[in-house]
Amino acid sequence: MTGTSPAEYTVQGLRISELAEQFGTPMYLYDGDRLRETYRTLRDLLDPRIDVFYSAKANPNVSVCAVLRSLGAGMEVSSHVELVTALRAGADPRDIIFLGPAKSAQELQACLAADIHAVVCESLAEIAQLESIAPPEGVRVLLRVNPAFQAKGSRLAMGGKPRQFGIDEETLLESQEFFQGLRRVRVEGVHAYMGTRILDQQAVIDNTRGILDTARRLSAALGFPLNTVDIGGGFGVPYFEGEKDLDVAAVAAGVNDLVAQFLADLPGCRVITELGRYLVGWCGLYVVRARYVKQSRGEWFAVADGGTNHHMAAVGIGSFVKRNFPIRSLSRPDEPDLRPYTVTGPLCTPNDVVGKAVVLPEVRPGDLLGVERSGAYGPSASPVLFLSHGHPAEVLVLDGQAHLVRRRDTVQDLLDPQHLILV
Ligand SMILES: *Cc1c(COP(=O)(O)O)cnc(C)c1O
Repeated sequence: MTGTSPAEYTVQGLRISELAEQFGTPMYLYDGDRLRETYRTLRDLLDPRIDVFYSAKANPNVSVCAVLRSLGAGMEVSSHVELVTALRAGADPRDIIFLGPAKSAQELQACLAADIHAVVCESLAEIAQLESIAPPEGVRVLLRVNPAFQAKGSRLAMGGKPRQFGIDEETLLESQEFFQGLRRVRVEGVHAYMGTRILDQQAVIDNTRGILDTARRLSAALGFPLNTVDIGGGFGVPYFEGEKDLDVAAVAAGVNDLVAQFLADLPGCRVITELGRYLVGWCGLYVVRARYVKQSRGEWFAVADGGTNHHMAAVGIGSFVKRNFPIRSLSRPDEPDLRPYTVTGPLCTPNDVVGKAVVLPEVRPGDLLGVERSGAYGPSASPVLFLSHGHPAEVLVLDGQAHLVRRRDTVQDLLDPQHLILV
């Protein structure tokens, strides 16, 4: 239960001032109830034959992964450390897939050693490498296809264009001989991911139709069994003014229909949707403390202890016009709005703007401010080493209890990897 007490913002009844006192700021605060609710709502809407995998890159914290895993999510990982994280979070290897365009030999070996559900291969050369190192019993592979069809409605469109990800559909269709020559690599299905931050339900449905059709075409042309199809996802979270919530009920209804038709012909096929941002975005709050409040040539600035070094996305994704994430006063949620503040961080760069002209109640030095919907692509996708501030604390509130799930970096954490040479 996230809400606002008359005096200050609370998470599951815990007062933000006490959490900030206990764990310090800046910090990321994850509401475990909200995380569970997001997952369960989606899970209930989707056909039970569709497996939901969590894309760890959106928030690779091992405890966040563990919450999703405990609810039944599989894991989609893209690095050796993410694979180890998934295993440590308790994921069954059969519910893990590994993708990424530049897997190392060590990463491929780790996939083989863990015997994960499938390695998602992104080039013919990668398949050839896997063929040369796989054990006699073989390795299950999904082909990441760069489909010929165009995706609509994504902020980062994937299909029909030259891409470093995946194998072009045209290339796959010309590579029958290559696939016939494979002995240890067992192609068992297709993966496609059409882009991120999709807020248009019809776009998700159209993508799904395109991917399922593409998978069938490829399996027929290349002669591999269709045991798994990963239909991607890319469900968005609205951040900016004018953006509307993705209608997940409509998405689920459309996707369920398509999957039901698909499974009527291929009853044994495992259908996976992989989601990052949508599962974790809503539950996260980036909490900073205003250190100074100042006026400069008529503009009010709230200068905070954390900024884009932990929340690069707040700069405004893919836009030249500064757009703000939802930002609120956590210390005075019930006071009336007073004026617009530009909320900035500790970096010595004019780009360190978390929010431009954010209308807030009065901000006084020491007040806590929160950037909402910030559970995805936070510190792990930000320049946390800029000015050597390091990684912020991460706190997960679960069943009314706050847990430090990552401590903030210390001076030692930051300096230990460096070597001082004699000069
Ligand atoms: C990043 C990524 C995801 C997760 O994307 P979201 O938009 O956060 O859901 C899933 N699959 C692939 C291949 C990705 O690169």
